[in-house]
Amino acid sequence: MHLKESISYCPKCGKKEFIFDKKRFVCNSCHFDLYINASAAVAALILNEKNELLLSRRKFDPQKDTLDLPGGFVDIHEKGEDALKREIKEELNLEITEMQYFGSFPNTYTFRDNDYYTLDLAFVCRVATFDNIQANDDVSAIEFIPLDKVNVDEIGLSSIKVIVESYLKANL
Ligand SMILES: [Zn+2]
Repeated sequence: MHLKESISYCPKCGKKEFIFDKKRFVCNSCHFDLYINASAAVAALILNEKNELLLSRRKFDPQKDTLDLPGGFVDIHEKGEDALKREIKEELNLEITEMQYFGSFPNTYTFRDNDYYTLDLAFVCRVATFDNIQANDDVSAIEFIPLDKVNVDEIGLSSIKVIVESYLKANL
């Protein structure tokens, strides 16, 4: 659910006059504004030498056990490209050597019943070697799937599904 369903008291003055209006909460008592914006996130389309797509299996909710692209949230003051390199190192122990921007995909990410908004930046990536690949962090398993065998219905997060569908459409 939208945060306006769970938040009704102003976090600054405590009055129950904290009203959501389009992009922000406004306190009608102390005039405190709290903006709700999309968070930037990154997703990697990593291909191996056989042009198979790397898909990870989600270890945690939301959408536990479904297929996913590796990636994650961009930290405050972090470049998207640096977030991508960091996430791929953390999740898979891989070093990205080439990345090409593919596109941006808005998403709603529901965590503990609350909706958060992201803008997922997708990049097509190559890595130097898969020799040291590991399933770390929030990844339970890694699969390489030939492009014509990818079943997008196994992808849990809706924007990730759209990214993969768009990539397949452009490359099959
Ligand atoms: Zn207030």
